[in-house]
Amino acid sequence: MPVFSSDFIFDGNQFLPPGSSILINERGVLKGVYDHIPSETNVLPGLIMPGMINVHCHLELSYLKNRIPSGQGLICFLNHINALYRESRNENQILNAIEQAEAEMFKSGIVAVGDICNTPDTLTQKLKKKIQYINFAETFGVLDSNAESRFNHVLTLLEIFREAGLLVFPVPHAPYSVSSALFEKINQDTSSISTMHNQECLAENDLFAKGEGEFVSFLQQFGLYDLPGKGNTSLQWFWPKLSRKQQIILVHNTFTSAEDIHFVQHSTQKVFWCLCPKANQYIEQRVADPRPFIKAGANIVLGTDSLASNDSLNIVSEIQWLHAHYPEVSIEKMLHWATGAGADALQISDQFGRLKPDSSPGILHIPEWQSIDSIPEVYSIHRLDTQKG
Ligand SMILES: [Zn+2]
Repeated sequence: MPVFSSDFIFDGNQFLPPGSSILINERGVLKGVYDHIPSETNVLPGLIMPGMINVHCHLELSYLKNRIPSGQGLICFLNHINALYRESRNENQILNAIEQAEAEMFKSGIVAVGDICNTPDTLTQKLKKKIQYINFAETFGVLDSNAESRFNHVLTLLEIFREAGLLVFPVPHAPYSVSSALFEKINQDTSSISTMHNQECLAENDLFAKGEGEFVSFLQQFGLYDLPGKGNTSLQWFWPKLSRKQQIILVHNTFTSAEDIHFVQHSTQKVFWCLCPKANQYIEQRVADPRPFIKAGANIVLGTDSLASNDSLNIVSEIQWLHAHYPEVSIEKMLHWATGAGADALQISDQFGRLKPDSSPGILHIPEWQSIDSIPEVYSIHRLDTQKG
């Protein structure tokens, strides 16, 4: 069985001391982590690390790459998505885009994905099992009177995924797009894991705090005239509605205040804050500052969002973006967000996210990585557990 060492080994939580090594068996399973370098070790330049986890993606939207102009704000983006959804579907184009986008994720070292689904379009690709998916069947509907039919729609989607043997959970889209009655149904149906888009734009807080702003007319086009209760942030409004101790992944968090972070951190539910810096830059031209989350001791993870709002599905690119804008945040911390923490968020840490004996986390080698406080601009990613490559 081959033993590997390199200049740097990151284990999913931290860099191991220099002189460490790992043992991988012929089936690509990690069998040992050593604090020494045995004879006949393959000593490689650069970095060895577990495969990366993309906690928030919409693989089915891959065909929308370059279709929506950047920098126009979330409401404009949502209107574009709605208009594009109404266009007639080109099945081949949609399926080819899904296949290509997954190949791009695989090549960039992503081994597991939290994927939002509104359709079964990604099913065929997911059944090839190149990447592990935790599927989130998304539901929305602003009218209490429509909650039943909206939830029935998501039940159909859940059944399709479950019959195919894939893991799937029903989740709300966002606080502004889900009625109280629909929240209630989602809450009843899931007690393990949930995720939703959170405070992606300022108008979301304006709607909930003051009952005004750009979201009012956006929601009225769907027939909503009874706006949600005033006087709270959107986060504090919906928080009690997911009351079954679900582990919750909050996505974007661009306009989440220190007070909101404090509110959530002191609740009894386990929470992960998913940052999608490049997608936020694309849509809102404003990105969540990771420092208040770090200060609060929050669990941070990373996502790419979809190719409708990003030029790539690549977690290293997200880390590069954050490193360029927040150089004081250590690379070690960000690698943890991309691996161990991501696996915890998707509840797959028994197999993914860490160099843990008897697991198959996907073991990456990046030869160009030259230090623990910088990321190479040009790099290549190889799999050491080659049977999976
Ligand atoms: Zn999203």
